[in-house]
Amino acid sequence: MINSTGQTALDIAVFWNHRDVANLLQTDSAEHNPDSNLRNFFSLNLLNRCSDKRKDKTWMRNKVLASNTRFIAFHNLSALAVKVAEKQSNSRYMLSKLEYRDIEIYMAADPATVFLGVVQEDRSVPLTFEEPGLFAVDLSAVGEATVLGLAPGAMLMPGYPLAMQLSPEEAGIYAEARSMMAWHDRYQFCPTCGSPSRSEEGGYKRVCQNMDCRSNNGTAVYLHEIAFLSHF
Ligand SMILES: [Zn+2]
Repeated sequence: MINSTGQTALDIAVFWNHRDVANLLQTDSAEHNPDSNLRNFFSLNLLNRCSDKRKDKTWMRNKVLASNTRFIAFHNLSALAVKVAEKQSNSRYMLSKLEYRDIEIYMAADPATVFLGVVQEDRSVPLTFEEPGLFAVDLSAVGEATVLGLAPGAMLMPGYPLAMQLSPEEAGIYAEARSMMAWHDRYQFCPTCGSPSRSEEGGYKRVCQNMDCRSNNGTAVYLHEIAFLSHF
């Protein structure tokens, strides 16, 4: 049973962190909560973010181009997603995962692209380069119909309420990706001098393109982590 926004009672209990209620409700749905801990619905993210790789431009470029890398496309902060067949899963929507070749012609315009991390099945095994990577990419400059045409049967999913019907694993990935897309959208210009800024370090840093700007002289470099807080 769902309400008018598509949420079950368990969705609501978990979202608002009502522990006792959720414990009662989730007895038969524990398999859909992989880490077994109650938490904010959007806080689970099982990706290894590999933050140490963000400054490695060669690694990042090769990861973008790797054949097993996938991209979550956003258009005006709505994510490309598909409806899940009811018999396959209790989540109702799933993020579309695009290949580089699907979006290659749009990448030439250098859209905001954020490295979300890699899928690491076993955290006890050291990473190689082979783990599948996941990026978010802002295709707002591309026509809506064209973006929708990138995945059969896809829709552009707004943040509310449909994102609350993703699987818990995808909800966490979606939340990070969408907040990063919003950050890039709002900080296209340097807050110090107003010149255009560009994305660096896997999408976690924006740098002023005016080399005379104070922010490029070690006085006011602004990282995503600082502005990030203002979006939660
Ligand atoms: Zn500046």
